[in-house]
Amino acid sequence: MTKTKIEWCDYTFNPWIGCQPVSPACDNCYAERLCKRFGKDCFGTGKERIRTGAKNWEFPVKLNRKAGNKIYNHTADGFIRKDWGDDHKRLLASFRPKVFCGSMCDVFDNAVPDEWRKDLFRLIADTPYIDWLLLTKRIGNAPAMIEGAMSGYDSGFCGLPDNVWLGITVCNQQEAERDIPKLLDVPAKKHFLSMEPLLGPVDLEKALAWQSDVVGIDWVIVGGESGPNARPMHPDWVRRIRDDCEMFATPFFFKQWGEWYGMERIGKRAAGRMLDGRTWDEVPE
Ligand code: SF4
Repeated sequence: MTKTKIEWCDYTFNPWIGCQPVSPACDNCYAERLCKRFGKDCFGTGKERIRTGAKNWEFPVKLNRKAGNKIYNHTADGFIRKDWGDDHKRLLASFRPKVFCGSMCDVFDNAVPDEWRKDLFRLIADTPYIDWLLLTKRIGNAPAMIEGAMSGYDSGFCGLPDNVWLGITVCNQQEAERDIPKLLDVPAKKHFLSMEPLLGPVDLEKALAWQSDVVGIDWVIVGGESGPNARPMHPDWVRRIRDDCEMFATPFFFKQWGEWYGMERIGKRAAGRMLDGRTWDEVPE
């Protein structure tokens, strides 16, 4: 587990490493490049994934203890008082670290032994002061794998632990229409979209049209691609999603332009993360 520079979370945790491409969003997979550079042969069909060491698995437990102590010190007993205002509640929520689980893998990868996933879900359930951000490109696998991983757990609980924010990567309209309904079908504390790399225009309203009353997306993150073969992202694609989020009152987080700014490749640092003169750092409460 490491402290991360990713703008929308505090830490990354990889229970294992290795994966295989399943989406156009995977074409320039950073994790695969990194593994190759370090001589780890764990990407692709038939390649065994590599489980990370026991020391790495101990970090979340320590982090959970630290966050729990902080919350107890502020509340005396861990419970939020009814008469506390929004500022106080926000302060307490800020003590909960956000851990992005799986920056070098996919939690719902079917090449991973079920036992590893069981261990991961127990770790998540046993660290309630952490908000775990599970981001997948394989949401279709999630229901059966969650049930398998949580079955027989002490509490008899077969859904996701309630400290999980479940998210999917969506890079184009086709993925939005195919995967958003599947995401919303899995009960979770929060549902989010990571639209990075965004590779085409996406009409979220159309993707959500099947939902007549409730709009269940709690958070949308958008970002352009970085790295050697990065593809450009049109500013109007970003604006459209931002406008849809405003219409749905959904928090919108603009992570970065990536290597391109409009149709010009100027480098990630120069392109920055301003959209229409400001940054967009909204996060759900
Ligand atoms: S799902 Fe993620 S880790 Fe796996 S190949 Fe695609 S981009 Fe890489």
